[in-house]
Amino acid sequence: MSSAHRKRAALHLPIWAAVFLTLVCVAILGLSSWREWSARDVELKNTDIDTANLAQSLAQHADDTFELADNVVTGLVHRLGIDGDGPEAIARLQTFIDLRKPTLGRIRGLFVYDETGRWLATTESVNLNGLNNSDRDYFRYHAQSADRGMLIGRPVKSRSGGQWIITASKRFNHPDGRFAGVVLATVDVSYFTQFFNKFTIGQKGAISLLSSDGIMLARSPDDGTYVGRDLSSTPLFKERTKRPASGTYYFRSPLDGVQRLSFYKTSDHFPLMVLATKAEDEVLASWRRDAAVRMMFVVALLLIIAVIGFFFIRQLQARQRMAAELEAKEADFRLLAEESSDMVTRIGMDERIHYVSPSSSRVVGWAPEQLMGTPALAGVNTEDLPRVKALVAALKRGDQQDARIVYRSRHRERSEIWIESTMRVTKGYETGEINGVVAISRDMTEHKDLERKLASLATLDGLTGIANRRHFDEHLEREWARARRDGTPLSLLMIDVDQFKKYNDRYGHQAGDACLQSVAQALAAQVRRPADLAARYGGEEFVLLLPDTDRAGCELISSKIRDSLAAIGIDHELNLPSQKVTVSIGGAIAALQDAKASSSSLVEAADRALYAAKDEGRDRLVMSGRVIELSKGRIA
Ligand code: GH3
Ligand code: MG
Ligand code: MG
Repeated sequence: MSSAHRKRAALHLPIWAAVFLTLVCVAILGLSSWREWSARDVELKNTDIDTANLAQSLAQHADDTFELADNVVTGLVHRLGIDGDGPEAIARLQTFIDLRKPTLGRIRGLFVYDETGRWLATTESVNLNGLNNSDRDYFRYHAQSADRGMLIGRPVKSRSGGQWIITASKRFNHPDGRFAGVVLATVDVSYFTQFFNKFTIGQKGAISLLSSDGIMLARSPDDGTYVGRDLSSTPLFKERTKRPASGTYYFRSPLDGVQRLSFYKTSDHFPLMVLATKAEDEVLASWRRDAAVRMMFVVALLLIIAVIGFFFIRQLQARQRMAAELEAKEADFRLLAEESSDMVTRIGMDERIHYVSPSSSRVVGWAPEQLMGTPALAGVNTEDLPRVKALVAALKRGDQQDARIVYRSRHRERSEIWIESTMRVTKGYETGEINGVVAISRDMTEHKDLERKLASLATLDGLTGIANRRHFDEHLEREWARARRDGTPLSLLMIDVDQFKKYNDRYGHQAGDACLQSVAQALAAQVRRPADLAARYGGEEFVLLLPDTDRAGCELISSKIRDSLAAIGIDHELNLPSQKVTVSIGGAIAALQDAKASSSSLVEAADRALYAAKDEGRDRLVMSGRVIELSKGRIA
């Protein structure tokens, strides 16, 4: 991948990160929703299974109940068929019924009516006289229909007990086949209701027993209004023939608008149907609760991801901006470093060169690629090395942030050069810890030479090349202090060329200068010990400072000066009597016991002695004896 490609890809990084985060959030949300929806489906399926099981077993229970009724009724019909309905037979039948009564269980009552509807026998303890049931639907049905099967009738209010009952009846015939009457078994609606009540189906759930033509036989819960209601117009019964014998049936209740999940099961033997119903909102209530909690966690998680992601992306953008700025800055600095005539070096904590600018070729004679990775202090002069090393160590330790140092270093072609380096520590962008030193170095050799020259110019006399007045003054102060400290004598000779004005007049100014140079050489030749100093004091006056020298020494040196001038023998016609260049010398010795005396008094004393020498006829030495007190020796 090219760097441009990489850069462009990096630029889009925050967008990709945002897209990725969004996808992650959408995926988490999608998966969670799908999971919850599946859980809801499972809940509904389980409800289907529950209601199906319930409907099946309750249908079985209803079957059993009516089978029992059928058995009893069929037994009685059979008996009537054999015995007839004569009074004796009926009396026996009543006895039989009374005997059976305690074992009838769920059968509430048994009744036998003759062809006119009159009560013949019953389990009920009532007076049969005058009771007639010919008006009942089931009676009319049997009177008219030859069908000898069992009829399960609509619920009716019991004439004997007043409660709701379900009737199960059959006709019995005279021997010639004519209608002879009806045998009836009743089951209390409340029997079913109480039985259904035992099952948990929720507040809004219901279990109903219906006849297959849509009449409500029993219901749980029952507020007293359901029994006998005709539901044949509901979709369940309208499409009855198209539906299988059992199945799920979902509907919205026309009464309360609640969506219901139910399962119906029609009886295999009787025209009955059981419908077990649960309310969807109740079925799903616990799922809703749990799902809400779980979704809340998911949403909280998504929010956290979104917030973290937001900050992460912001950070990423900020970093990219910073990196871009840094890059631009680096480019600027690189340009500066590359274009600079100074050598820019980056030294790592290992004290090796990590970067050096192209001007290294000019400054030290080595190309950057030759220097890269080599020890940074390799070329430093061994005398300067400890100083440079100590400074670099101090910078690395953080004792100081920057420093300037001048030292000698090897050059590839030339001999040693002087280098001035300005150093500064660099710190890691992230850590803030020192990670190296940047040095800007320049060749100082010419500057150093110039400095040396200037220093010597400042102390030497331009004409004669010996020390100048300034140097003499400084030297005198130093020697004065030392003589005072050590208690040693300090001598000064002040030398003045005789009749020099006339020399100039006679030989010209240039010859005068040459003469002064010769005199200076003669004086300088007398300086043997390191602390001695010959200097031009001004004009044609010179001084010789002679530490730790007594009068005899002064005299000896004075005569040597005279001898040396005589040996040179510069002509000076107007300087009588020798007609050669001569000098007069005034000398003074200080033995510094007098704490108040200053160095200028030594000069004054020598000056006075010089005057005396001139007065006395020139070309001689006069030693001062008045101003400076000597601790030992003679006083002149
Ligand atoms: P004396 O013996 O009393 O010292 O007489 P003198 O002529 O030497 O006395 P003075 O101090 O009056 O004269 C000094 C002369 O030295 C005056 C000046 O022209 C000359 N002179 C001073 N400095 C220089 C110099 O640098 N070059 C030359 N050629 N002459 C100088
Ligand atoms: Mg003079
Ligand atoms: Mg003079």
